[in-house]
Amino acid sequence: MLAINNIHKCFGKQEVLKGVDLTIDKGDVVVILGPSGSGKTTLLRCINFLEQADQGEARFGDEQVNLSTASKKQIYSLRQKTAFVFQNYNLFNNKTALENVTEGLIIGRKVPKATAVQIAKAELDKVGLSDKYDAYPSQLSGGQQQRVGIARALALNPDIILFDEPTSALDPELVGEVLSVMKTIAREGTTMLVVTHEMSFAKEVANRVIFMDGGMIVEEGTPKEIFEHPKEERTQQFLKRVL
Ligand code: ADP
Repeated sequence: MLAINNIHKCFGKQEVLKGVDLTIDKGDVVVILGPSGSGKTTLLRCINFLEQADQGEARFGDEQVNLSTASKKQIYSLRQKTAFVFQNYNLFNNKTALENVTEGLIIGRKVPKATAVQIAKAELDKVGLSDKYDAYPSQLSGGQQQRVGIARALALNPDIILFDEPTSALDPELVGEVLSVMKTIAREGTTMLVVTHEMSFAKEVANRVIFMDGGMIVEEGTPKEIFEHPKEERTQQFLKRVL
């Protein structure tokens, strides 16, 4: 479904991604772990063109693109295939939950309003917000806001959803409700690439875990391989610190 080849990205003199390769198949739930500053978020952002890579190619289905020179048309076309769930939700504060979900459908995808409303309500129901259609973000908890963010991503019906530390801005008691929604959609077969520090999610839900450090993929494997038998010293040290 998605193959990334040799992504490089510098910020000034700092090389943040040093040649990352990544393949994601339909239905995969891939979790990226790694210390802060290892380039995890930048990798997701380059895949979705929120950052422009300095080098690298991507193949989304049958579309091949150079990530550093993609045209506006290519970017537009490939953005239709992904959706992004942000750490800080990125909702429009002056729009209701329902409007936050319909916006991308109506403006970005040119879906008629009545259809967009129907889709948005179904996705808000799925994330447990059927009583919050008309609430503004300021009237919602962080967990509810992030569930709107997930409903917005689902509504776009992307090939893959990219999650950038979706629970790390939440108070601890609100993390569970968001992880639970993510588990449900993973079990329904949604293809997901997830940057998270939630080890329990990685262990229980991922079918592949990638460990990144210093802008490179150090090791990848099944959750069992990575958590129980990490091969690389850097992975072992990281897991010792976080588990
Ligand atoms: P992670 O997600 O693993 O914590 P990031 O991808 O957020 O890592 O960041 C990797 C490095 O790139 C960090 O040193 C960070 O400070 C730097 N960085 C990220 N975004 C920018 C930016 N827009 N401008 C400058 N430096 C950045």
